[in-house]
Amino acid sequence: MVQKIIIGVLAAALIAVCSVWGYSAWQKQQAAAPAPAPAAALPAPKPAETAAPAEIAPVAAQAAQEEKADGTHFTYKYVSPRNPELLAMYNMASEIDILHHLPEVNQLDGWLTLPRPINFITAECGTINAFYARDKGDVVLCYEMLDLLVRQGAAVVQANGGSTGDQLKYLMANLRFLMLHETGHALVDMLDLPQTGREEDAVDQLATTLMLSLVSSDESDGDIAQNLQMASNFFLLTDGGNHDMATYADEHSVGAQRFFNLQCMIYGHDPGKYLRIVTSGRLPEARALRCQDESKQITRNWLRLIEPNIAPRHRMSLEEEQAKVQAIKQKQVENSTAPYMR
Ligand SMILES: [Zn+2]
Repeated sequence: MVQKIIIGVLAAALIAVCSVWGYSAWQKQQAAAPAPAPAAALPAPKPAETAAPAEIAPVAAQAAQEEKADGTHFTYKYVSPRNPELLAMYNMASEIDILHHLPEVNQLDGWLTLPRPINFITAECGTINAFYARDKGDVVLCYEMLDLLVRQGAAVVQANGGSTGDQLKYLMANLRFLMLHETGHALVDMLDLPQTGREEDAVDQLATTLMLSLVSSDESDGDIAQNLQMASNFFLLTDGGNHDMATYADEHSVGAQRFFNLQCMIYGHDPGKYLRIVTSGRLPEARALRCQDESKQITRNWLRLIEPNIAPRHRMSLEEEQAKVQAIKQKQVENSTAPYMR
């Protein structure tokens, strides 16, 4: 009964937040991608008109931009469960259309050129999990995992005296990280991306890099750091601390290691801004010293792997690239006096 009330309140809060997200995402889409005119409706240019007068050149440039190929679009599906106990999760996910409210996944939708679409699916799995199914190109979020996150969020809020909004934040922060992690597995497979370390660690790094890089105007850098902190807390909550040999043999790093790796990535992204991660004791000083270099290298390597697969329509112009490089250099100057650096 209590669980049903929690889910009901959560669903109502989620609808409110998601409708805001949905509306702003729609606005951005409208602004960024005006509907291209059908090619058949365009009159064939006469030879004398091929050299456009200077005053209409920007319009011509925009038309050329619209003709550039878009990337591969994803599919989204909610599969109804057989287990009646999971119906509440199915109803919540499908009514809210939760898969269309994962900002980073939705930004990647159509941004990359892939050999086939990634299919995002929520389904009953019989176990608490989220995974990438290589044979079908499916990224699956299990209702059992959704249920765990709802319950964990409620427990965290109860322990810290938060609100339903905080429970919702915990759920969405973890879903964003989790689904990006699985999307990382899909990209490694579909794009045959080279990995020399453990893939599980690499896709944790990709999820973190994307969350730190794809900050929208709806959220601040601080909001994103807070989301990543909540995602890292999941690793501590699910790490019982009793590690046997089977845990060490697992393809995943132990939960505490994944927690500290995330702290290092967030702190290293902007040591001046996220100094509190070290001063509050979430990241030991000894590790913090290496984090700016570590974060920079991981981000650069992942972006180098992904960059060649960005669809022509979404590639940065030279000016945009130069502005980005300048912003990174500026941040390095600002951080040159930050403590806990080698
Ligand atoms: Zn994984």
